[in-house]
Amino acid sequence: MDYPGNPPRAVWHTTESPAGDAYFNSVALYLIRVASEPQVIYDPISDKLGQFGPLTQSARALQNDGSRRTNREGKVCIQVEVLGRAASPWTNGFDPAGKPNFRKLLAAMRAHGIADTWPAGKPLATAAAVAKTPRNRSTWQSKGGHFAHGQVPGQTHWDPGAINTDIVPGQPSTAPAPSKPSPSALQYEPFPGAGFFHGGRHSPIITAMGRRLVAVGCGKYRSGPGPNWTTVDRDSYAAWQRKLGYTGTAADGIPGKASWDKLRVPKV
Ligand SMILES: [Zn+2]
Repeated sequence: MDYPGNPPRAVWHTTESPAGDAYFNSVALYLIRVASEPQVIYDPISDKLGQFGPLTQSARALQNDGSRRTNREGKVCIQVEVLGRAASPWTNGFDPAGKPNFRKLLAAMRAHGIADTWPAGKPLATAAAVAKTPRNRSTWQSKGGHFAHGQVPGQTHWDPGAINTDIVPGQPSTAPAPSKPSPSALQYEPFPGAGFFHGGRHSPIITAMGRRLVAVGCGKYRSGPGPNWTTVDRDSYAAWQRKLGYTGTAADGIPGKASWDKLRVPKV
């Protein structure tokens, strides 16, 4: 690339041919023959994706802007020829949900740092509209994101027409991130359940709980606390429950989840 310090971008074209699998190879061969290959060719009907060269190297689908080689602008300049015609935007009726290769193409662009934006605005719907609109050179050179061929300086083409920017590029899929335990969940002993606390229970959790009860001023221990669940543990825990405002059977000394979480017993 000539200007790898400039932001990564994608440029969208249309082949001005019919779409569909039957045209895929012949159009690709034509682009090679006329030395105007993009990096990627895509058929929105079959979801077929073809690649002419590495995404990190320049393609040949743009004309130069004077002496400046537009194909070599930016960290990457990933160009896509989509089978279809600018006058009839290929995104009409196109559902990315059913097009895994299309989604992979967008993911690859994002992986190369291409922003989900159109710095020169949405692609325009007609040749006349494109002709009236200046192809802003400083926007092209200084901004990353998605561009229409018709927005790049030094060009005469107006493709790809008014493709839907909610689809190209749309938003990355919003699958929920795997849930991470909160820091407190990692730090504190989870409530072991009320059934855990009975005579004969021997556990370091009981010791850790007892130390916390002492720390909050509810310890009734003459010695300890220790790992065996005893009536003194129960009396101490009941004091903690009363301190939290529980009364009656809610302050019977058998831990419940709410009071346990508030006690913040360190993880054993
Ligand atoms: Zn083009």
